[in-house]
Amino acid sequence: MIIVTRIGVTEDELDQIRERVESLGLRTHVSRGESRTVIGCIGDEERLQHVPLLSIPGVESVHPVMRPYKLAAKEFSAQPTRIPIGEVQLGGPEVVVVAGPCSVEGEAMLRETALGVKAAGARALRGGAFKPRTSPYSFRGMEEEGLELLAATRVESGLPVVTEVMDTRQVEAVAGHADVLQVGARNMQNYALLTEVGRVHRPVLLKRGMSATIQDLLLAAEYVMKQGNMDVILCERGIRTFETATRNTFDVSAIPVLKSETHLPVLADPSHAGGYRFLVAPLAHAAVAAGADGLLVEVHPDPELAMSDGDQSLDLEGFRAFMRALAPFVTAAGRTLAPQEPAPA
Ligand code: PEP
Ligand code: MN
Repeated sequence: MIIVTRIGVTEDELDQIRERVESLGLRTHVSRGESRTVIGCIGDEERLQHVPLLSIPGVESVHPVMRPYKLAAKEFSAQPTRIPIGEVQLGGPEVVVVAGPCSVEGEAMLRETALGVKAAGARALRGGAFKPRTSPYSFRGMEEEGLELLAATRVESGLPVVTEVMDTRQVEAVAGHADVLQVGARNMQNYALLTEVGRVHRPVLLKRGMSATIQDLLLAAEYVMKQGNMDVILCERGIRTFETATRNTFDVSAIPVLKSETHLPVLADPSHAGGYRFLVAPLAHAAVAAGADGLLVEVHPDPELAMSDGDQSLDLEGFRAFMRALAPFVTAAGRTLAPQEPAPA
């Protein structure tokens, strides 16, 4: 249930509305917009059925949330959610680019990538220390050592770090080293993991499962939010279809659908969606045109030598060119992009 308050509602009135709802055993969540404040009621809505909410001073209207997800639903928040990441906010006017290798492979390559993508306009560094691989014989990441390297590179480059957590037992260690916890496509419906990342105070980057509907994705976000962590970033990364020419099929329509269904920021991952380097720029342009709040892009100093996902990784010069080519699309979408600096020596 969403309670919309009237313009100019006082703090006392807000407190009274919340107290009334909470006295019935529900929780409340206050979301302040520019002109209105919205109170989300979480819990058994049956209990509110016979309460004359409209007669409480300050209440303008009351709306049941008909969708299966509540906290993630657009009406739950008075304005789009903005999630601070380092110096910027995801979900604000800037198209935030997060870039870096698929996997952390060593100190030198991570440092070179971080400094290179930062100069090119990336706002955060991505890199997997724990890698979910389809084959158990593939490289599965540097694990704890990879986390240490990410944390050290974070200090050196000043870029916040996004890295994947695959297992509930890793949540504490990953949260101790990273700024954003990534839950990968293969784990989007790992409800124990979603619950655990919902308990930490770190934004969660939730990737759409390969065969997950948009509703499945929003319900997965709901699991995280239900634990109290409202900072969820959704990511469209392509879905499995009958098409084999691309690694996945980039569902560009998921972006405007998500933007109309939820207040959460939406990223697109053109690297995993396409699977090939030449597809990264066109899919990124489409994503920006469709309203994406940011992009997740794989970059490796030497993609031919990459231990995972080399075919879809841009090299550092390629990433600079990618960012330059992206700029007019960002402007056309009415958004901004971080400026580019000279490449590090
Ligand atoms: C990744 O970001 O490197 C990754 C494994 O992505 P996904 O979970 O989307 O396959
Ligand atoms: Mn990858």
